[in-house]
Amino acid sequence: MTKIVVVGAGVIGLTTALELLKDPTNQVTIVAKQFPTDFEHSSVYTSPIAGANWLSFADDDDTFTQNIDKVGYKKYRELIKNAPEAGVTPRTDITYVTKEKFEAIYKGVKTLPWYCKGEFSKVVGFRELDPSEYNTSKIAYAYQINGLVVRTSYYMTYLINEMWKLSRGFETPSSRFSLRRGSVTKISDAYSLHHLGTADLVINCTGLLSRELEDIEIEEKRRIYPVRGIVFVAENTTGMKCNSFVDIFDPKYPDEKLYFMPRREGELIMGGVFQENEESKVVDPTFIVRMITRCKKYLSQYNWDDLKIVRTQVGYRPFREGGYRIERVGKVIHCYGVGAAGFQSSWGCAERVVGLVNQYKSKSKL
Ligand SMILES: Cc1cc2nc3c(=O)[nH]c(=O)nc-3n(C[C@H](O)[C@H](O)[C@H](O)COP(=O)(O)OP(=O)(O)OC[C@H]3O[C@@H](n4cnc5c(N)ncnc54)[C@H](O)[C@@H]3O)c2cc1C
Repeated sequence: MTKIVVVGAGVIGLTTALELLKDPTNQVTIVAKQFPTDFEHSSVYTSPIAGANWLSFADDDDTFTQNIDKVGYKKYRELIKNAPEAGVTPRTDITYVTKEKFEAIYKGVKTLPWYCKGEFSKVVGFRELDPSEYNTSKIAYAYQINGLVVRTSYYMTYLINEMWKLSRGFETPSSRFSLRRGSVTKISDAYSLHHLGTADLVINCTGLLSRELEDIEIEEKRRIYPVRGIVFVAENTTGMKCNSFVDIFDPKYPDEKLYFMPRREGELIMGGVFQENEESKVVDPTFIVRMITRCKKYLSQYNWDDLKIVRTQVGYRPFREGGYRIERVGKVIHCYGVGAAGFQSSWGCAERVVGLVNQYKSKSKL
């Protein structure tokens, strides 16, 4: 048996632990400062704050991230079909490209992401919208895919339940799996935290807080940085049923975005911002005013009057210069730096970590 400690209970740590437990020769302990069932989350625990949907951010030539995101797309569609209790809801995902963005940034050239081109466009059900389907005075073009929305804390609790299910059939239910609340100052502290003795391997899934671990090299720490996001959670009285991303361009507020995800439970997730190295928790009160003005301008088909905002959430996307770190160094496998894509990339990242674990096991005859 191989004893593995996964440090971190965000979407990356939990998905990785679940995938590791599918191999009956692995025994997994998750150690984390915070779990999805905690009533209050700190902003540096990013996963509960996300929307979350699948709209891959990979560039056309970034097949590494594309392949990771393809795994996630297929997995979420499977969950929609076979596990309604997972908290993943199908949603048509529409992208509206504004005339300002089309002219100023795309220079009048219709620009589509990688998943709307080639073979994968059939998998995601890509379709260009007819101009009769949007406001042609403001929108240059629009397209849709068969998307989804994840109810984040609920979904992560589902992942934990799946792990308990997998640990059945062994001597005691907890013999292959355990959860421990704890904080490590060095990743190497985690070896002694396995519930059955010293761990053979440690997986580092600490997200943004990797930059605080004492045994991460200084150069590496410098590469990890936050990108602040703000999400308003409103009662969905707008009539919106599709995820909607409006590709805006406002030179006065270049880090402001406009996207929506209607959740099954009646909440509307409204985002947001993309503010590099911004760590404040303070939300500018004029931001929501600008957002509603943009809603009325670009998405006038919905009702934006008397919208009731029930919660404001601030989170920090765990970015890393150079992209995801999925790498084994000795007996530690790092998996962090997934930025704005932790949910969509989680299954593909976990698959890669399992590959590294298996390589290590066969090399060291574990
Ligand atoms: C506003 C917003 C919207 C987003 N929308 C989307 C979206 O639509 N789709 C999408 O795919 N992604 C989205 N994201 C990005 C996504 O949320 C992140 O990429 C993802 O949550 C990162 O997950 P993680 O597991 O790496 O980190 P985290 O969720 O931050 O988890 C880190 C874990 O490590 C633990 N930990 C940290 N340090 C230690 C330590 N020293 N000792 C013990 N435990 C430790 C923490 O307690 C926590 O359990 C969004 C993010 C934001 C902020």
